Amino acid sequence: MSELVSNRIRTMAGKLGLPHLADGLSQYAKRADEAKMGYLDFLDLVLSEELGVRDDRRFRQGLRLSKLPHHKTLDDYDFSFQPELDPRKVKDLATLSFVEAKANAALLGPPGVGKTHIAVALAVAACRAGYSIYFTSLDDMVRHLRTAEATGRLTSKLRTYLRPSVLVVDEVGYQPLERAEANLVFQVISKRYEKGSIILTSNKAFSEWGQVFGDEVLATAILDRLLHHCEVVSINGNSYRLKNRLQAITQDTDVA
Ligand code: ADP
Ligand code: MG
Repeated sequence: MSELVSNRIRTMAGKLGLPHLADGLSQYAKRADEAKMGYLDFLDLVLSEELGVRDDRRFRQGLRLSKLPHHKTLDDYDFSFQPELDPRKVKDLATLSFVEAKANAALLGPPGVGKTHIAVALAVAACRAGYSIYFTSLDDMVRHLRTAEATGRLTSKLRTYLRPSVLVVDEVGYQPLERAEANLVFQVISKRYEKGSIILTSNKAFSEWGQVFGDEVLATAILDRLLHHCEVVSINGNSYRLKNRLQAITQDTDVA
């Protein structure tokens, strides 16, 4: 390939926003020569690599903006530790059809069973598939919305929780809310209803949400919208955080 042509391709690739092609042009040409590639195969290679690089960049950028506390996946989750949890139920969620349908997912159970882990894993999968993600604990969301409300910025702050395709709301029910706070949660849930997905985790059964939100009517209104299209996964088992300690205790009692 003449120097003139390769320079021209590099300039055009730059202008078209195809940096990978601009950088890797001579490598591409070499690979095409070696494999005696046809024209269509060559074009296919160049475009798919460019798309791969772009998807990867968007994925990494999406993870940065998501505020996820970590990036664990379902491969990191040991299903054998929770024998009552049907892996198929979680793996079905990981197909993300609920995200496509703008439906919700709720992960319920006591502390340490992996609710946040699974919520994060689903969010990472959704991010990889191109959906925008935002992670927050319920308490942080309420705190930020209250501050925004007090300073006349509620509408703009609400957008943080309404814009992403998937909003992860972690730890619903750890702290009871005041009425004004529950009202802010209702605004988020009702405005997202059938417009975007929510993945939530809670240590409370839905029947206890009246106490969490300090008002049965408000709790019912929130649950009504949340549960209309919602996959519910209950995890009833031991805390993974206490795994080694429980083993140690069992061993101690075995010896004694
Ligand atoms: P929860 O949100 O239910 O309180 P987490 O998701 O925070 O629990 O889990 C606590 C810790 O234990 C995390 O580090 C998580 O990755 C890990 N963990 C929980 N369950 C499992 C499991 N079955 N396999 C592997 N790691 C797990
Ligand atoms: Mg958690």
